Amino acid sequence: MTTVGFIGLGIMGGPMAAHLVGAGHEVIGFDVVPESLATLAEAGGKAAANVAEAVSSADVVITMLPDHPHVESVVLGDDGVLRNAKDGTLLIDMSTIRPESSLAIAQAAKAKGIRVLDAPVSGGEAGAKNAALSIMAGGDAADFAAAKPLFDVLGKTVVHVGPHGAGQVVKAANQLVVGGTYALVAEAIVLLEASGVDAKTGLDVLAGGLAASRILDLKRETMVARQFQPGFRIDLHHKDMGIAVAAARQADVSLPVTGLVAQLVAAARAMGHGSLDHSALLKVTEQLSSRG
Ligand code: NAD
Repeated sequence: MTTVGFIGLGIMGGPMAAHLVGAGHEVIGFDVVPESLATLAEAGGKAAANVAEAVSSADVVITMLPDHPHVESVVLGDDGVLRNAKDGTLLIDMSTIRPESSLAIAQAAKAKGIRVLDAPVSGGEAGAKNAALSIMAGGDAADFAAAKPLFDVLGKTVVHVGPHGAGQVVKAANQLVVGGTYALVAEAIVLLEASGVDAKTGLDVLAGGLAASRILDLKRETMVARQFQPGFRIDLHHKDMGIAVAAARQADVSLPVTGLVAQLVAAARAMGHGSLDHSALLKVTEQLSSRG
């Protein structure tokens, strides 16, 4: 079994690390929040005092951190992964970050004899808890093959999508579809309620037809009930829409709906909803019609 150093034990990383323990791997975790370390220890993992302690005996290091500054500081920093991991260690960054950061990390790691995959995930908190994530990996095929047994513990759809950074590009595409779907489900709720039609009944019908989606399946009831505890925070989706817009610029393409959704998510954040679930995009749509 593999010794895994796991950095970032939050909403996603916590249950993912616990699944690896459950599959028989030795997991040495680190997070700046002590409660997250205690949860890992209860699940049978080991709590490390810092990044160095988590990674120095690991065969594989997994990072699941909020954004690129966190990943860069944990990986490239003075007491970071590259300074402390063994030669030949496989570093798998499962956070959602800018593709160019993933590329820079892969280059810096190569110089230190450390192999890297960018392997962001989709499926949300439920996917992490149920080990049903979609995992999109960028990097060398041999490294993907080495990581596959661990990925199979965490996810149901596990795909090598291309070279370094490709995983992050696929994730950006995922996030623009998710954001756009939330925006339209929010508009459907506002229209139904303003027209005097029961929104839950209306969305139940949508969920059985061509408009069906995982978001309608998982979130329609909580959206109609205005329950917005995260899940996936607006702040993180704002970051991801920024990545999608920047990736479009980089690829020299125009994505007008993505631009609009990015502004709606930015509005949700500006209205003070950054720590709510991204389904709270409904609050912005309601405000546009002076409702809610
Ligand atoms: P989170 O904020 O719950 O977890 C991040 C964890 O990283 C926190 O526990 C935090 O304390 C820890 N951390 C931050 N800086 C650290 C450091 N320097 N050293 C050690 N630990 C540190 O976020 P999350 O929802 O678990 O998301 C993690 C990543 O996964 C993000 O990139 C997010 O975009 C992506 N993601 C999230 C979801 C979701 O539904 N929540 C779904 C898919 C992808």
